[in-house]
Amino acid sequence: MDFNLSEDQEMMRESAEEFAQKRLFPIAEELDEKGATPPELLKEIGELGYFGLMAPEEFGGLGTDTLSYALVIEEIAKACAGISIAISVHNSLVIKAIEKYGTDEQKQEYLPKLAAGEIIGAYSLSEPNSGTDAGSLSCQAIADGDNYIFNGTKSWVSTASHASIFIVFALSDPSLGPKGISAFIVHKDTDGMSIGANEKKMGMKCSDTRELSFMDAKVPKANLLGTENKGFNIALSLLDNGRIGIAAQSLGIAQSAFNEALKYSKERKQFGQPLAAFQAIQFKLADMATKIDAARLMVYRAAVLKDLEERKYSRQISMAKLYASEVANFVANEAVQIHGGYGYVKEYPVERYFRDARVTEIYEGTSEAQRMVISRDLLKD
Ligand SMILES: Cc1cc2nc3c(=O)[nH]c(=O)nc-3n(C[C@H](O)[C@H](O)[C@H](O)COP(=O)(O)OP(=O)(O)OC[C@H]3O[C@@H](n4cnc5c(N)ncnc54)[C@H](O)[C@@H]3O)c2cc1C
Repeated sequence: MDFNLSEDQEMMRESAEEFAQKRLFPIAEELDEKGATPPELLKEIGELGYFGLMAPEEFGGLGTDTLSYALVIEEIAKACAGISIAISVHNSLVIKAIEKYGTDEQKQEYLPKLAAGEIIGAYSLSEPNSGTDAGSLSCQAIADGDNYIFNGTKSWVSTASHASIFIVFALSDPSLGPKGISAFIVHKDTDGMSIGANEKKMGMKCSDTRELSFMDAKVPKANLLGTENKGFNIALSLLDNGRIGIAAQSLGIAQSAFNEALKYSKERKQFGQPLAAFQAIQFKLADMATKIDAARLMVYRAAVLKDLEERKYSRQISMAKLYASEVANFVANEAVQIHGGYGYVKEYPVERYFRDARVTEIYEGTSEAQRMVISRDLLKD
């Protein structure tokens, strides 16, 4: 087993680290405070190619493997986890959707612009009354002449205010339940569609999260993605990609929280000694580092497996997402503890890591949902 990164992978990691630490880390606190990401910053990220990481080269993407993608997300998340959401959703849920299920016309129309970051994509599966039970969604898209007429509400759409297109899941045949769901490419300027206010979140504040409302909104039939009524399978197959992104993001948050805790434990003195001299603190650091190491092995393995065979390794991908997100929360919590009262205020970044880590156990499938995927796979025979 080779644990070394290839030269290309190491180059991707190093350049992402340099950009993240020099450009993103110094402004991460300000973005968190403002609760927004300036569009110019997303444009800059697009120019570096990060919105086209896994997009095929023929469409202007970098055509990287999944491990390189995970490495970039991890480095970006170390500096500013909120920004890493936009990159992860855009690459793994939007570009992948069109690359895998789009017609030639759709690929030609959207992939070059998405890969260059000229337009941003968002993903809209969740609804106010349909989360983990995604098959119970109720937004409708009923065929009418050359269009589908959309009515309903979608919720929790990350990067919504920046997005030009949305991959939206809606019922094209309500009588079939989950088997009547289709996927669509919906443009932001669609008549009858409105984008709601930014949710006031606990963490990941610079990533905006909004509702989409449809009232008799007309979406051209040409914007159906994949086969009609096969949208639920599309949604599930994309989540494998997305979960690697969130697992890598969790790893980034955990690593930064650990780094800060290690540094602080050497600087802060109590009882005439640095905190790091106390065995209770040393053991916390040992546990944090060990869990991060295990999570990293799982996340990188999941990324490598993902490229071997589509959908075959969903269990390992869910395990990586489950474990890495729980490690991010464990490590961020311990990092706050090691900082004492100073960990509870904004003077040190661990306060932000603690808030940002929380949602990694919730989105793209909660920890309970990952345990369902894992146990279902264990018990399938
Ligand atoms: C910041 C943020 C960004 C998001 N971005 C997006 C996005 O871009 N696009 C998108 O489509 N969605 C997005 N989501 C939605 C996210 O995927 C959902 O919040 C998530 O799937 C959980 O759904 P829910 O919130 O409705 O919780 P629920 O499904 O109501 O679950 C509530 C609790 O019950 C548990 N539970 C539910 N069913 C079971 C069961 N059968 N067994 C055991 N436990 C169960 C859950 O694990 C959870 O702990 C985002 C959410 C957040 C918070």
